[in-house]
Amino acid sequence: MVKTINHYIGGGPVAEAPPEWADVHDPALGTVSGRVALGGGETVVRAVRVARDAQTDWGAASLGARQQVLLDFVRLVQENRDALATMITSEHGKTLTDAHGEINAGIDVAKFASGIPHLMKGEFSENVSRGIDTYSIRQPLGVVAGITPFNFPVMVPMWMFPIAVACGNAFVLKPSEKDPSASNELAALAERAGLPPGVLNVVHGGADAVNSILTHPDIAAVSFVGSTPIARHVYETAAAHGKRVQALGGAKNHLVVLPDADLDAAADALVSAAYGSAGERCMAISVAVAVGDIGDALRDKLVTRIGKLSVVDGRAAGADMGPLVTAEHLEKVRGYVAAGVEAGAHLVADGRAADLPADGYFLAPTLFDHVDPSMSIYRDEIFGPVLVMLRVDSLDGAIGLVNANEYGNGVSVFTRDGVAARRFQHAVQVGMVGLNVPIPVPIPYFPFGGWKKSLFGDAGQYGEDGVRFFTRRKVVTSRWAETGGGLDLRFPGAAAAS
Ligand code: NAD
Repeated sequence: MVKTINHYIGGGPVAEAPPEWADVHDPALGTVSGRVALGGGETVVRAVRVARDAQTDWGAASLGARQQVLLDFVRLVQENRDALATMITSEHGKTLTDAHGEINAGIDVAKFASGIPHLMKGEFSENVSRGIDTYSIRQPLGVVAGITPFNFPVMVPMWMFPIAVACGNAFVLKPSEKDPSASNELAALAERAGLPPGVLNVVHGGADAVNSILTHPDIAAVSFVGSTPIARHVYETAAAHGKRVQALGGAKNHLVVLPDADLDAAADALVSAAYGSAGERCMAISVAVAVGDIGDALRDKLVTRIGKLSVVDGRAAGADMGPLVTAEHLEKVRGYVAAGVEAGAHLVADGRAADLPADGYFLAPTLFDHVDPSMSIYRDEIFGPVLVMLRVDSLDGAIGLVNANEYGNGVSVFTRDGVAARRFQHAVQVGMVGLNVPIPVPIPYFPFGGWKKSLFGDAGQYGEDGVRFFTRRKVVTSRWAETGGGLDLRFPGAAAAS
């Protein structure tokens, strides 16, 4: 049965049918499983109006009341995690295990947001001048928006809205049109947890909906996660319209293996980080860098492991990897594989030639060796199960390679040498660094964000950055002297200096 997913505004799905729908696919079956509303300017205007009205009361709710909603929301997401995971897998294609992993990561951010009474605390300096105190307070921005990618339909929205609403804002979420169902479910769960209707709204759609958000005068801030070209567009357009923006972009993450590393641990890490979720993770490792003479041994260990991976419907028991998200994306990734062969890279494992399910958008793990940095399979973000291996002579050669890459999201090094690891972490121009860990995703009390073309703006997602992004600071200078001082005609700054 084909289900319909409409905008969720003011406490439930809107009643009227939208002028346009887009198909939603089940990527493991290659069938249309639903249709999603495509919103534009009118839908955004409606959602913002509802959000603005709801924010007035919500922003005035006590910190304890807001905290309780977050705590109840965490419990409800936990209770409904199986249904959410099935929803993710049937529209995205990742395995159920991966789907549960992303739900857990989202829950961790909501738990962090439930600490809002502490996180919103300001600063206080007593007696900056006689009888004068100065302090800062944090206040919500009003209506804020989040625009999210297809690859984490629960986790990435939960990087944003739990913190935004805990800070007292109302939120308009524009999720990916490729896997939209989970967003409506999250909004419904938040309302069951006590979030007043209208505080969290979901507008579905593509570029039109995004552009209407970027230019709407009553949206104070836009948080974006997606590919680099769209991140740049969002950053430039929203900033030109006076908004605060954080825009996280794409990635090309390297894992550097030094000659002294435990090669089995490195190969395990590479396989899980390169092929997990079919490589459709912004923290996926897509480049293996073999330092010194370990290249052949590492390649052989990778090939052995790749041969054991089960590439099937993500709902099947024992699935290691599911399909890619759409037929178009599959074709794009297959095109990169062809380009790599054409450019002369050694195709060690060809995912196109594997025994795969007949229907659906499948490509098995693919490995290239002896790749040159000039090749498109190295330069571009492929966002599929394609790992490329390069060989360099030294640690400095590896650092130079990573730093010359235009992306700077995540990177890892595997070594037993603490001095080398320390030098690596200091010198790499990348926002998130792993030492002997495959995917260095920060836990929610540290911010998530890359450097260079992986992040436009200066705030990462969640952690203290999230609270700062979704609040503005007010600094108060107050005089409550015990005796009246009479009229003081000096410039105000002079009082503090006296
Ligand atoms: P995408 O950039 O195509 O889409 C992201 C969002 O932008 C979606 O909501 C989409 O509807 C909207 N959008 C798409 N085209 C648009 C246009 N022309 N104008 C305005 N809005 C538009 O990204 P995706 O394919 O959904 O997700 C994969 C990308 O996201 C990868 O590049 C991946 O690295 C990146 N990503 C980055 C992070 C990070 O933390 N840096 C995390 C997850 C995903």
